[in-house]
Amino acid sequence: MRRDIFSEDHDLFRSQVRRFVEKEVAPKVADWNARGMSDRETWRRAGAEGLLGVCAPAEFGGAGADFLYAAIVNEEMARVRAHGMMLSLHADICLPYLLVYGTPEQKRRWAPGAVSGDVLLGIAMTEPGAGSDLAGIATTARRDGDTYVLNGAKTFISNGQIGDLFVVVAKTDPHARPAHSGVSLLLVEGTTPGFIRGKKLDKLGLRGQDTSELFFEDCRVPATQLLGREGQGFKMLMQQLQQERLVIAITAVASCRRALDDTVVYVKERRAFGKAIAAFQNTQFKLAELATQVEVGQAFVDRLLVAHVRGDDIVSEVSMAKWWTTDLQKRLTSDCVQLHGGYGFMLETPIAEDYADAAVQSIYAGTNEIMKVIIARRMGLGG
Ligand SMILES: Cc1cc2nc3c(=O)[nH]c(=O)nc-3n(C[C@H](O)[C@H](O)[C@H](O)COP(=O)(O)OP(=O)(O)OC[C@H]3O[C@@H](n4cnc5c(N)ncnc54)[C@H](O)[C@@H]3O)c2cc1C
Repeated sequence: MRRDIFSEDHDLFRSQVRRFVEKEVAPKVADWNARGMSDRETWRRAGAEGLLGVCAPAEFGGAGADFLYAAIVNEEMARVRAHGMMLSLHADICLPYLLVYGTPEQKRRWAPGAVSGDVLLGIAMTEPGAGSDLAGIATTARRDGDTYVLNGAKTFISNGQIGDLFVVVAKTDPHARPAHSGVSLLLVEGTTPGFIRGKKLDKLGLRGQDTSELFFEDCRVPATQLLGREGQGFKMLMQQLQQERLVIAITAVASCRRALDDTVVYVKERRAFGKAIAAFQNTQFKLAELATQVEVGQAFVDRLLVAHVRGDDIVSEVSMAKWWTTDLQKRLTSDCVQLHGGYGFMLETPIAEDYADAAVQSIYAGTNEIMKVIIARRMGLGG
């Protein structure tokens, strides 16, 4: 079905992105998965192609385009299973912090490099002892003259090895009540003394991604690298999470499509009992049901995309899309593995990787349970 949210210009852009991704990204995915991280050269090429600054202002080298263009980039990356290169994390999740809350000096210093692919971004919220309960973080940033002294440990940080600049969530007032009012954001360069990259973590899926531990040991960060105001960190995070969760829903639906398309091809080729697997009614019904759910998910995501571009407050609806589409992705990839039989369990079959990659989608960017907490709270339920 034609998606009527895109103009002719969007379609042309998609063709350009698809050409680039198929030539420059897809051939590298297997190597990234084997090495556990992407490579800088491809990031720079993506920057030169204009894919990292789609929505960034022209003064920083960006295209200043609407978010539908960013959605196209995310969909095309998901289509080739390029999860190892966390392009959306860099361009659509981290860069907006700098662009929305950064001082003119902060933007001048880092935004052009982020758009060109020379300064890779990450965000360090989660800690060994606090993920969903973000106000419970223990990392502190103590003001000392014209610096903040950062101490603490972060874990599960995407781009943890390759990243150059991190938005670090820390408590500038550990005794503040309520606790979230003591949370601030700092821009911290990976080369800062006291910034220690821990180990790259071994994972079930997203094997091409350098999810890592980070440690801060008396890491002195110039006070000029505070993002926004002290104590406003939690508010900024909440404001930006709408786009982060929308990105997850976009990639969930795109990944579902890819898994479904590949499975349709497979069941037509594979034979049992003298006929194609596709000829069994169970196969037909299962795939018909999944295709229906993908279309339902796409219709919802497209509606949210339009509302997001318009600037609407769609926190509840984005939370709904995040949990629903990622749950769908998990069910769909599981069913598609089943339809592949034993080959579905072999890592050389892309569907096996899809199944493993889907598992995290309901966990990060706020777990699906937290999405339901947000929805319920906005419905006026609970305390
Ligand atoms: C591959 C990967 C990449 C990641 N990248 C990043 C990154 O770049 N930066 C970053 O900061 N973090 C990142 N994370 C961390 C991720 O955001 C957290 O794992 C996530 O927020 C969940 O936190 P947690 O792991 O501490 O789980 P917990 O908070 O301990 O949750 C455990 C379980 O309890 C449930 N639970 C918790 N609270 C409630 C509640 N109130 N009601 C009902 N159920 C509840 C959860 O839903 C979950 O099922 C990444 C994680 C992974 C796996």
